[in-house]
Amino acid sequence: MEQVKYILEEKEIPQYWYNILADLPEPMPSVLHPVTKEPIKPEDLAPLFPMELIKQEMSTERYIEIPDEVRQIYRLWRPTTVFRARVLEKALKTPAKIFYKYEGSSAPGSHKANTAVAQAYYNKKEGINRITTETGAGQWGSALAFAGACFNIEIKIYMVRISYDQKPYRRVMMQVWGADCIPSPSNHTNSGREILAKDFNCPGSLGLAISEAVEEAASRDDTHYSLGSVLNHVLLHQTVIGQEAKIVLEKIGEYPDILIGCVGGGSNFAGMFLPFVKDKIDGSHPNIQIICTEPSSCPTLTKGPYCYDFGDEAGLTPLMKMFTLGHGFIPPPVHAGGLRYHGMAPIICHLLNLGLIEARAVHQLGTFQAGVDFARSEGIISAPEANHAIRVTIDEAIKCRESGEAKTILLTLSGHGLVDMAAYQAYFDGKLHNYDYPKEKIEQALKDLPKV
Ligand SMILES: *Cc1c(COP(=O)(O)O)cnc(C)c1O
Repeated sequence: MEQVKYILEEKEIPQYWYNILADLPEPMPSVLHPVTKEPIKPEDLAPLFPMELIKQEMSTERYIEIPDEVRQIYRLWRPTTVFRARVLEKALKTPAKIFYKYEGSSAPGSHKANTAVAQAYYNKKEGINRITTETGAGQWGSALAFAGACFNIEIKIYMVRISYDQKPYRRVMMQVWGADCIPSPSNHTNSGREILAKDFNCPGSLGLAISEAVEEAASRDDTHYSLGSVLNHVLLHQTVIGQEAKIVLEKIGEYPDILIGCVGGGSNFAGMFLPFVKDKIDGSHPNIQIICTEPSSCPTLTKGPYCYDFGDEAGLTPLMKMFTLGHGFIPPPVHAGGLRYHGMAPIICHLLNLGLIEARAVHQLGTFQAGVDFARSEGIISAPEANHAIRVTIDEAIKCRESGEAKTILLTLSGHGLVDMAAYQAYFDGKLHNYDYPKEKIEQALKDLPKV
């Protein structure tokens, strides 16, 4: 019988997170204070984050120890399984070997639990018992709600109103784990009240929800703020994914030729590829191909310029150098909720700029078709976000069929899609369309970029 899944033991959960900042061929551009435009200092971030996470954000130490308390909770679902997609390979008649690492087995159903648990732990350790955050479609909110339940921390979540109304099930998950989830804009903050005064029926946006969550955390001593992607420490926490994958592949004598993942803020795929980029930088595997996939409707890496921008709509966050569609970006109505952010993790942008990784945009209909093909061969119903990575995996496997090359492909499957049935339903009902984000809108947004 051919082996299909590769399962590590609990004691093989990594002991350290891997910090790419130790191995970059060129240092990262500075993060700037939003007002002074000087490089940000640790104390600027102290009202929002525990000092241990601020240190991780700025650290250049190669390995950072994972606390026992965090590893203990990781045991609930880690190490996650690596599968060989044997049925899909046969269906595609490809000589390629397709491996995928599945992060959907955590309680909230995605990789986001890897950082939510770590962030909750460091807050608790510094005596913080209350955290605010924002959530779009609800994946991050549910992950932090779960982590709050692990450490008995009160979690308050500002959820983009349109999702709050249209996607009730993630919100109920948050409630089950004891978090308080309210629609944004709300009357709990100045930013929310200002918008509501102008437009009582405002559907909200991620940028606005961030502004509300940050405002509340900054104005209360007992409350911190937490972010689920983009920042260095978030990507750091996700590196357990790639480290585990490396252990498995080493055991079976494989090394990937191609790594594929989807990017919204960039955390799940960075968690996989950062430990492999290290091998590319040190020259031990110079030819590994690393492909970030994103929606054509939100083409941050493939169409955005590389420049300084804010992380939120109101311009409260530090300025980061990143590929961006402009902080005023209004997401088109596509169904991969987790991939609709205007910017991208600065680490990913830096690596793309250095030519160490590449990016590809794919259309919505093709991603759902790929997700359905995958489910009908491998069983797992993937998150719409991860369907972008499945699309490119299938495309690359077909290229191998045509060229006769037996490449080894490693796909990151960031989560399951069991709370996204409405999106699959819309696909089957023919209600989804392909959409290219217009060039004029990107040019327009460039005019609003902050001057530095
Ligand atoms: C949030 C989310 C993403 C996008 O976020 P990244 O930070 O880019 O990983 C992708 N897949 C799933 C399942 C998500 O929940």
